[in-house]
Amino acid sequence: MHRPAVGARKRSGRAGSAAGLQGPQPGDHLEALQRIADDNDGNRASGTSGYEASARYVEEQLRAAGYTPVRQAFTFRENRRSRNQVESFNILAETGGSAANTVVVGGHLDSVRRGPGINDNASGVAAILETALWFKEAGIAPANKVVFAFWGAEEDGLYGSQHYVDQLSSTEKDRTLANLNVDMLASPNGVRSVHDGDGSDVGDGGPEGSKEIEDVFFRYFEENSLPAEPTPFDGGSDYEAFLQAGIPGGGLFSGDRKSKTEAQVQSYGGTAGQDLDPCYHRACDTIGNTDTELLREMSGALAYATVSLGMATRG
Ligand SMILES: [Zn+2]
Repeated sequence: MHRPAVGARKRSGRAGSAAGLQGPQPGDHLEALQRIADDNDGNRASGTSGYEASARYVEEQLRAAGYTPVRQAFTFRENRRSRNQVESFNILAETGGSAANTVVVGGHLDSVRRGPGINDNASGVAAILETALWFKEAGIAPANKVVFAFWGAEEDGLYGSQHYVDQLSSTEKDRTLANLNVDMLASPNGVRSVHDGDGSDVGDGGPEGSKEIEDVFFRYFEENSLPAEPTPFDGGSDYEAFLQAGIPGGGLFSGDRKSKTEAQVQSYGGTAGQDLDPCYHRACDTIGNTDTELLREMSGALAYATVSLGMATRG
């Protein structure tokens, strides 16, 4: 399923080159992660062989680009009733730059057990990888340290990102400038939405500084004549641990269970009255359940925001 062309896809040269649009395409990572799910019982859930294979894929990509990815281990309870502890891990890869203004760019690597999780969240993984690879290709040396993070066990209860935040000292929390989160960027009937940093439009805002993050994303979409809208922080993703710790957060989301409104069809095309992602958390969340043009646009926005914050000073 794809959106009809809406005639709003022109990009300015500057932001276009900032997004690395000539380079490898994020869709390639979706295909790789789909194959991994196919070879591993149809899913990539934390604690399974599909997760391990997904992790190796991400690590290979990062190493080939010149990063030194590390695994950060944690355990989580299989479910509320069970005492079984499952071992899992996050993958972290960092740039140089000052740790006094660390920017954490993250998304979850695991899928639900019911399906391959290609929109949720191979799409976010693809955008983070493309941003990380573009930094190396373009020779970007950010003033601030950027940590590219691939979280485990999000679908089991946001465990990986919570573990990461829990192990930070209070000094390290203070030195974390921002968390950018991407969780679902290629919804087949999707929208371009940005978390509402100050709660001015929808829901509650994040800690002070979150508004500036929101503004950076909207600036990218405006410069590229791409309509975008705010979406609330509703607690359903890995930004939650950061916001709870007082760390400014933001990010992108292309939608899941809400049905598309007529107004959204005007902005993005697609089908009114149908879910933004009809295969959310289902076995049909396959490569066929993605809009790769939307993913390219969202990946461009993530790359732009990452470099903006990577060069930002606190103020
Ligand atoms: Zn997700």
